[in-house]
Amino acid sequence: MIIVMSSRTTGLLMASLGAGAVATGYLMSDNAAASADQRRKLYPPSADYPDLRKHNNCMASALTPAIYAKLRDKITPNNWTLDQCIQTGVDNPGHPFIKTVGMVAGDEESYEVFAEIFDPVIKDRHNGYDPRTMKHPTDLDASKIHSGVFDDHYVLSSRVRTGRSIRGLSLPPACSRSERREVERVTVQALAGLKGDLSGRYYSLTEMTEEEQQRLIDEHFLFDKPVSPLLTASGMARDWPDARGIWHNNDKTFLIWINEEDHTRVISMEKGGNMKRVFERFCRGLKQVEHLIQERGWEFMWNERLGYILTCPSNLGTGLRAGVHVRLPKLSKDPRFGKILENLRLQKRGTGGVDTAAVGDTFDISNLDRLGRSEVELVQLVIDGVNYLIECEKRLEKGQDIKIPAPIQQSRK
Ligand code: ADP
Ligand code: MG
Repeated sequence: MIIVMSSRTTGLLMASLGAGAVATGYLMSDNAAASADQRRKLYPPSADYPDLRKHNNCMASALTPAIYAKLRDKITPNNWTLDQCIQTGVDNPGHPFIKTVGMVAGDEESYEVFAEIFDPVIKDRHNGYDPRTMKHPTDLDASKIHSGVFDDHYVLSSRVRTGRSIRGLSLPPACSRSERREVERVTVQALAGLKGDLSGRYYSLTEMTEEEQQRLIDEHFLFDKPVSPLLTASGMARDWPDARGIWHNNDKTFLIWINEEDHTRVISMEKGGNMKRVFERFCRGLKQVEHLIQERGWEFMWNERLGYILTCPSNLGTGLRAGVHVRLPKLSKDPRFGKILENLRLQKRGTGGVDTAAVGDTFDISNLDRLGRSEVELVQLVIDGVNYLIECEKRLEKGQDIKIPAPIQQSRK
């Protein structure tokens, strides 16, 4: 027996589990009591292969018994395994509103150690981007943006967000409580250095009242409670709300989420259609946040093939989701709406976030890809795409016909 129990613990267990359970425990063979690692190796990978027959996510499409067999027993330096990466995709065969990726990283190294599955998933999710041969560009020069102010009659709010992870600390699916608290400490200390219109303060979830929290969620400033099965099945909601919170400036136009799906999410948003101004503030704030983190001896996870490293492969590269809440009562009822969005590489969500259905005529429309194109290119793609949608809406209002645009190709670098 490897497990040593004091008589006090045994007594407690007896009381809570009943004698039968404990008796079984005592009868455990050496094999059953072996470490998780040793136990896994008692069975061949084929016996562990998940049943993915009813699944519709990128991981399920890419995983094969051969890849699984090769990777099952590998571990990252932080002890993270393939099975832990794919658990969320195994437990969530599909999603009612979007096609999900079906796997997450536990640490920066996951993307290398399990590259044989992450690479095809990344290629599938990011419009053919090949992480083995391609390099990801970064461009945070907002002055390059044109036509960035939407018609306020249609666009209710504009938002740009990304995520950043702190190198050396495990990602939310895998982090320990201490690592999670370290992320909070490092980030909040750094953010205290923001000045002028960006200066603000941190609001810890543990110190917020239920009403304060709900108000921030309803106003679209704060992440939802951990209700999403994507979040819970990946392990990201453990210990909730410990070390979670939101930092924001006084105007609530520059916000940083701490320890939700990523170590940090950096957000610029405001009401109305001025996407150019939102992106300018995003670039300025993000550069300052990076500088303040670096001043304290930390750096963000990044490499030239994958760009910024985040928990979900869908967010690699720029991590950028630029989006608007836009009213499209006529276009959204047109059967061509889905194809138009697909060809423009845009994604539609409900206005309450990724796990909500669209209510009424208003949608969250944002870029689908995050990798292989720079921040400037993606924001411009959203601006041009949303302007096209608004044009379609106006034409339909006048009883005129609309066209499905030609598909946008992935830029090959
Ligand atoms: P993310 O991809 O940033 O995690 P989610 O879909 O999870 O976004 O939504 C998080 C919150 O951000 C939700 O409350 C959502 O309504 C809000 N949100 C997203 N886009 C916009 C927007 N353009 N305007 C206002 N709120 C937005
Ligand atoms: Mg989210």
